[in-house]
Amino acid sequence: MRDEDFTFRRGPATAYRPSGAVLSLPVNALEATLGLLQRSGRRESCVFWYGTRDRETGLSAVRAVLAPVQTMRPGNYAVSAAAMSQMVTLVTAEDWKPLAQIHSHPGKGVRHSAYDDEMASSRRALSIVFPFYGHWHGRWPTGVGVHEHQNDYWHTLLNQDAARRVEVVEKAPLLIKDLRR
Ligand SMILES: [Zn+2]
Repeated sequence: MRDEDFTFRRGPATAYRPSGAVLSLPVNALEATLGLLQRSGRRESCVFWYGTRDRETGLSAVRAVLAPVQTMRPGNYAVSAAAMSQMVTLVTAEDWKPLAQIHSHPGKGVRHSAYDDEMASSRRALSIVFPFYGHWHGRWPTGVGVHEHQNDYWHTLLNQDAARRVEVVEKAPLLIKDLRR
């Protein structure tokens, strides 16, 4: 399997348009996510956020931080359909929805690669990339790649758009599971 290639990717045909939808990210969900990404060492890894979503208001809230069984390598990661199904069984009882797919990159580059476009499991969820294998700290969302799919393109949001789209909020009860071996 090839490594992620960050050199070439076509640009968007249309500019990003904020929808007004807001994802609430409890600060402890952010911390748990970074911890899970860091645990894979010098390998890329992915984590998923599940939670509530209100279609009418466009408001959603992270309630679960889940790391599925996956292959982790220095230059890419992969999750099988079976591993996705196994992970989803953890949240079906609550009827939580997939809200974001999160993964790490080796360096400071956090834009989607063409590989990321292919690996995104849901175009209705956000796709978020953390630099330095999850060793990120700073002021959200500076240095983090927040992507939203619109008009057949994964847009990398500008900081101001990303800050409105994903709001870090106070600590909340969470389900945190690491299914990796
Ligand atoms: Zn990537």
